[in-house]
Amino acid sequence: MRIVETARELSELSYVVRQSGQKIALVPTMGALHEGHRSLIHVAQQHAEFVIVSIFVNRLQFNNEEDFETYPVTLEDDIAICRSSGVSALYMPSSSSMYPESFSTSVQVSGLTARFEGASRPGHFSGVTTVVTKLLTASAPDIAIFGQKDFQQFAVMRKLVKDLDIPVDMVMAPTIREEDGLALSSRNVRLSKESRQRAVSISQALFHSLSLFRSGIRDTQELIEATRQTCIGEIENLDYIAIVDAQTLDTVSEANLGDVLLFAGTIDGIRLIDNIIFSA
Ligand code: AMP
Repeated sequence: MRIVETARELSELSYVVRQSGQKIALVPTMGALHEGHRSLIHVAQQHAEFVIVSIFVNRLQFNNEEDFETYPVTLEDDIAICRSSGVSALYMPSSSSMYPESFSTSVQVSGLTARFEGASRPGHFSGVTTVVTKLLTASAPDIAIFGQKDFQQFAVMRKLVKDLDIPVDMVMAPTIREEDGLALSSRNVRLSKESRQRAVSISQALFHSLSLFRSGIRDTQELIEATRQTCIGEIENLDYIAIVDAQTLDTVSEANLGDVLLFAGTIDGIRLIDNIIFSA
């Protein structure tokens, strides 16, 4: 596995790989890798011979200094996971090479970023779109893999590459969960034993809503209220529960197949997001 640390090295590597006729897949991450990331790598390997994983804790996308300072860093383990997963190249740029002092550009997607995570975390999405644009430019992949876990992020990325004519196929990989349903997240290590137990209520609420949908209930107010009732006792601050169209993220009054139930809330000061796609 090649480890590269600058955008220039990555561009050169990507050029050579493309010349050899291999397809390239990019999996962007912030490290502290878990089974969710591993599954993205696995999906990437099904689409391309050469898989690049990037690890960069992107300060620009943190709207909260403490969240950035306490974000878990497990580099040695991450490198071992990438090696054992058959990753072709690992891109680990330093903060100063990604954002030298003179850096003054920001990539903004409007509309989709105004709601939900964008409304609650000002500046978050422009940090994400700026870094992902840099990662896509440097690695020039054929495909890029993102997790459904961050559904709005995927919708924003899909719009970004369409609007900027970036020639990359965007693939969304399913959310990987603990056995009890909690969506895996690098931030879960911050949950105390008690808040970890309370956090299960989120996926329980989402799956409850899915089963109501499957039983024929389509009214979104009813579905949202049932979701709220299932988890409200365990959530400190409920930020939003919304049912949206998967492309536009506009809220809908009647849920249909393919619509998405988005959730965000705080337990013990830790913000957790999750979602479920209504399916048959
Ligand atoms: P992060 O390192 O948290 O920024 O996430 C990097 C990528 O992994 C993003 O595309 C996330 O959506 C994805 N991801 C995070 N958690 C999961 C999960 N539990 N299942 C699938 N993908 C995930």
